[in-house]
Amino acid sequence: MPSTHATLVNHQVRLASRPVGQATVENWQFTEEPLADLNDGELLIQVLALSLDPAMRGWMNEGKSYIPPVGIGEVMRAGGIGRVIASRNPAFAVGDVVSGTPGVQEYWRVAADQLKRSGLAKIDLRVGSVTQWLNVLGMPGMTGYFGLMDVGQPQAGETVVVSGAAGAVGQTVGQLAKVKGCKVVGIAGGAAKCEWVVKELGFDACIDYKAAAPEGVQRWDAVREGLKQHCADGVDVYFDNVGGDILDAVLARLKRKARIVICGAISQYNNTGAMVGPKNYMSLLVNRARMEGIVVFDYADRYHLAIAEMAGYLKDGRMKSKEDVVEGGVAAFPATLNKLFNGENFGKLVLKVAD
Ligand code: NAP
Repeated sequence: MPSTHATLVNHQVRLASRPVGQATVENWQFTEEPLADLNDGELLIQVLALSLDPAMRGWMNEGKSYIPPVGIGEVMRAGGIGRVIASRNPAFAVGDVVSGTPGVQEYWRVAADQLKRSGLAKIDLRVGSVTQWLNVLGMPGMTGYFGLMDVGQPQAGETVVVSGAAGAVGQTVGQLAKVKGCKVVGIAGGAAKCEWVVKELGFDACIDYKAAAPEGVQRWDAVREGLKQHCADGVDVYFDNVGGDILDAVLARLKRKARIVICGAISQYNNTGAMVGPKNYMSLLVNRARMEGIVVFDYADRYHLAIAEMAGYLKDGRMKSKEDVVEGGVAAFPATLNKLFNGENFGKLVLKVAD
């Protein structure tokens, strides 16, 4: 098996410093290094596409979380899809397409003893495209699936509200809730996103939290008005991707025994001070409701079951998968990441690294 790639240069993006507020170009360092020969048991993977995720902002912070922070000087952590271009490991052949956590770089060298920890898995492009494997069939899809099904536990006929509705996790949650027979109300920023989730994905309604509020009405009152209009009997399940004022608005409309899935709080990730928690939490007491967090990696041993189910929905047309693919390779990573926090992505944000 050929293992010499001395002519290839690996371009990488490393964390240079920890941001305060939104990340800037100063927080990143661009490096390049030649690729050395492989040792026994090693693989060399050419990265095709990277998953850009809101969680990356949290990984840049110091401090304890569900996963250690990225260290200063380390290649930025990122999920992605790649193709094996050299192998000295009998379990992988040149040409295999794999998913895993390559980081923000063009080539990923995986040592034999890192294989299990790296989460490397072969993927089948007959089941879904590279970008679908980063979306509905990938980490965001798994988050939506297990967050909704295990924590939200929706019953047919119930009302499910999901924020970040046109994003990666949100699109899966809303479509899955429709498949399960629920009424689904999305919350998203902008008329185009709202129109898409209703007309294309079949949500029952969508509240545009960025719409100009009627005269004399605060923007968050307008969200409350939308919830009153579309969830007249209250909310059974709220899948929260954004936190902040939207979470408070939904808390005010809970039904008895409602479930709130705490998936993320993107409205708070760039705060320069502490995150702001919900003011209306006593609604949980009044309504005998509960709020529960989800970390997708806890479900890794059941991903295959969810992938099989979602692949079926993709095939029979009950589920669509929208990705926002940005060209430009790893050099475009810093600017592309910030699109998530400005609502500039429409669908799962993917950075294309190679053809
Ligand atoms: P995404 O929804 O595809 O993209 C982020 C979206 O968030 C933006 O497009 C924007 O949509 C919205 N947003 C940005 N700033 C906002 C603000 N201040 N207020 C309200 N909305 C804002 O991202 P994703 O990958 O699907 O992630 C969604 C959430 O799930 C994030 O909170 C993420 O951290 C979380 N997550 C959690 C897990 C887990 O295991 N717990 C796993 C994956 C993701 P609009 O244009 O509609 O505002």
